[in-house]
Amino acid sequence: MKEIKCTIIQDLLPLYVDDVVSEDTKELVEQHLQTCQVCQKEYEQMTQTLYVPIENKVTLFEKVNKKWNRKKMILIAGSILTTLFLCFAVFSYVFHYEKMIPYSSDLFEIEQQSDGTLVSNYFGKSHAGTGMTHPMKVEIDGEMKNISLIYYVETIANSPTSNFLREDERIGPERFELPDSKTVDQVYYGQFDLEKVIITKEQTWDELLQEMTLIWQR
Ligand SMILES: [Zn+2]
Repeated sequence: MKEIKCTIIQDLLPLYVDDVVSEDTKELVEQHLQTCQVCQKEYEQMTQTLYVPIENKVTLFEKVNKKWNRKKMILIAGSILTTLFLCFAVFSYVFHYEKMIPYSSDLFEIEQQSDGTLVSNYFGKSHAGTGMTHPMKVEIDGEMKNISLIYYVETIANSPTSNFLREDERIGPERFELPDSKTVDQVYYGQFDLEKVIITKEQTWDELLQEMTLIWQR
């Protein structure tokens, strides 16, 4: 192999120290270092003082920076996702997590109109929804009665004490007519799952009505 000049090797040394040379160059430098005291010394000095030439400092810094940037990007993306998820969770909780508003005579009133139809009055600030049934024929204490079931639900956003969304201040109660109410004998308040009573028979009518509150009868 042809002799390489020390100046060339010494030009290469900084790169060699930083391990950014090709395998061939590496081999070349190593071969030379084994035979040349001068370059060997130069090399040792470089490694002792952790010599990093300016252009390689930039490269190193960029390398670190790039890595850090990627980490930062992952972190940022992660926290954005977490934030979105939390927003969604809070949103769902505030608007969709419904529970029944417990019965109270201050909040609910069934009113019979002159034509015999029934109107449900709600005196709370707001509510998220209502569950109700058409009249159903049920045997109660040996007598067939036509009963309607009803309950109101609230969310954090809408409840008897808060009206998160409503801008308009209602005057008086919120009213709606119960379906087919002319024939209704009794109205019960409380949450119900008719599938349990009618389809799977897990619950009898007696059991269900015992959990509910009789709020009106003809
Ligand atoms: Zn040399």
